[in-house]
Amino acid sequence: MTVTVGNGVQVNIEVPSGYLHASEVIDRTPDTAWTALHAHAERLEGTLPSGVSPKMFPAEVVAQIEAKFADAYSEHAATLAAEKTARDALEAAEAARLAAQVPRLPEGSYNSSNTLGRGLLKSRGWTDGHITRLLGGPDCTIPSGYERQHLWGAERVAYAEANDTKLMKRLATYRAKRADEKTERIAASIDTGKVIFRKDGDTWVLVGRGLVAGATVEVTKRDGTTTTKRVERVLSTDAAGVSKAVPVDEVAEARAAARLADAEARAAERAAAQETRQRAAAEARPTGSPALPAGTRRNQRSSPCHGCHSTVHPDKGALRQVWAGDDEDDEAVRWEVWCSPCTWRTLYRLPVNTDTAPWVALNWPAADVQLVVAAGLNPTEAAAFDLSDPATREWVEMIRALRA
Ligand SMILES: [Zn+2]
Repeated sequence: MTVTVGNGVQVNIEVPSGYLHASEVIDRTPDTAWTALHAHAERLEGTLPSGVSPKMFPAEVVAQIEAKFADAYSEHAATLAAEKTARDALEAAEAARLAAQVPRLPEGSYNSSNTLGRGLLKSRGWTDGHITRLLGGPDCTIPSGYERQHLWGAERVAYAEANDTKLMKRLATYRAKRADEKTERIAASIDTGKVIFRKDGDTWVLVGRGLVAGATVEVTKRDGTTTTKRVERVLSTDAAGVSKAVPVDEVAEARAAARLADAEARAAERAAAQETRQRAAAEARPTGSPALPAGTRRNQRSSPCHGCHSTVHPDKGALRQVWAGDDEDDEAVRWEVWCSPCTWRTLYRLPVNTDTAPWVALNWPAADVQLVVAAGLNPTEAAAFDLSDPATREWVEMIRALRA
């Protein structure tokens, strides 16, 4: 038979027939019977047959002892049964504890970014008991001074917090207690005249006594340091005289001021540029009748203007060729004399009696002048246009498309 000796090593021992090895009977034998068995073995010492050791008892002697100590045997058997029941219960509890835990992720899945330490768990309301029962040993450890910090997977923590009723109850109580303490702490600091920040929905508000719109107040932050804030408006004041107020958003205010300054600077720049253009246009404006458009064929003789009938002196007006035939094949032409203002007026499509000089001074392509004239603008307004500005060009193109 195989026997386990004192140091846990298993050895094979040959037990002769009619004998029982001590290891076979020790478990079921009560102490008194065991003493009697040993006494019997000592009496036989030195007279044992070959192959029999002092650790082997004759089966008939064991039977005699069992009969003699029957009560002790049955009592011992009951104790053994009770111990086994207790052991089984412990094992079942351990199995249940393991079943309540979320399975761990594969080895190497945990690091300091997806785990929580004992201190953090306790600050959430966990106790060592909850950690042992619901999480077991750490999922990973990281160096912490001379020791290693134990960490548990955040997903296992979250699962336990959402599923274990005992823990959920404990956390709820803990949170409520912490909230009460916080409320008391806040009330106490407000009573000493401090103004503090508090979250109101998604925004931070000032809470304190004597808050009025426009006032500058010293606000005590959670870490005890202070900062200065201006009150934009008071939201509410309770019966105890404690107000909630919105602080001025200095960042937004600074941004708005910068935007305003920027817009003003650009407006000033535009105004200056317009003034420069207008001055240049005024300086460029010729006195008297403007020159004729480039490439104009001049009249050679003194003649009345075809448009306004005023006298056009030689070389001072345009000679315009017009078709004068009776049908399409007729190549007959006629020459008309036009004064300088009438030439510009027809070129720019200006109404009769319009002063052409300011338009000529713009020095724009005729097509562009026609467009702004069609849009009903006067020369001063037109001069404010910067045709090199893409936005203006876009506008001009739009009118052109509408006219087409
Ligand atoms: Zn004329």
